[in-house]
Amino acid sequence: MMKPDFWIVSFSGGKDSTSMLLRLLEENRPVDMILFVDTGLEFPAMYDNIDKVEKYIGRPITRIHPKYSFEYYFSEAPIKRGNPEKFRQLFGRDYNGFGWMGPRMRWCTNRLKDAPRNSFLKELRKKYTLHQYVGLAADEGYRLERKNNQRDECVHPLVEWGMTESDCLQYCYDRGFDWDGLYQHFSRVSCWLCPLQPLAELRALWEHFPELWEKLKEYEAMTWRKFRSDYSVNELEIRFAFEKECLAKGLSIRNKAFFTALKERLGDEKC
Ligand code: SF4
Repeated sequence: MMKPDFWIVSFSGGKDSTSMLLRLLEENRPVDMILFVDTGLEFPAMYDNIDKVEKYIGRPITRIHPKYSFEYYFSEAPIKRGNPEKFRQLFGRDYNGFGWMGPRMRWCTNRLKDAPRNSFLKELRKKYTLHQYVGLAADEGYRLERKNNQRDECVHPLVEWGMTESDCLQYCYDRGFDWDGLYQHFSRVSCWLCPLQPLAELRALWEHFPELWEKLKEYEAMTWRKFRSDYSVNELEIRFAFEKECLAKGLSIRNKAFFTALKERLGDEKC
């Protein structure tokens, strides 16, 4: 028996999926559900934007959540270590949780985003033929090529409309969505505490979101794994403050002298 069609907007609250959703509705394209997977790690302005979009379109946004919170996976989940004795020697004691995510340890993507989405969609597929609108912009070809985005179920309206990332942002700005200036600080907005984001974005987090930065330091104190392979959160803070100090004196923060002085500064702070 043929299952009825069901059209879902995969919605993150960011500029691409927001512009896609607004235009889909403006063009009266079929939309049965707007789905947002809440990792709990969005910037406050992102959550505000989601509420604002919901009010603007006059339709509910379905929010789903991972089985456990970020905090649970990060520092509470019991983890069986390969070599518990060695772990204890290295870090002084046992720790629960996965700790910070890294390039080869992105435990968060599956547990916080993919798993809740997939199990939710699996249930819907029992009743419907699903079609998912995915907000990949026309200039994001490398993401479009991913196998996951090439499934028959996926539809890419932004590509169809030729809307680039900057077109998407402008489209939202034109309709009064500005995320409280978030996109002036970050080119891509995702989990605010992601250690995999570029240094420039972490600098912006330190500079413009001091309360989130303090939270980052609290998380750091709860785990053994270094935030990034090159810097802990505290070391990043020292670096960013030192950069400011140098720039105020008209000194470069790109040359060898800067990095030598930074090394000394980090060494001093560690003593
Ligand atoms: S943005 Fe970073 S923290 Fe968030 S799910 Fe992706 S890798 Fe994990």
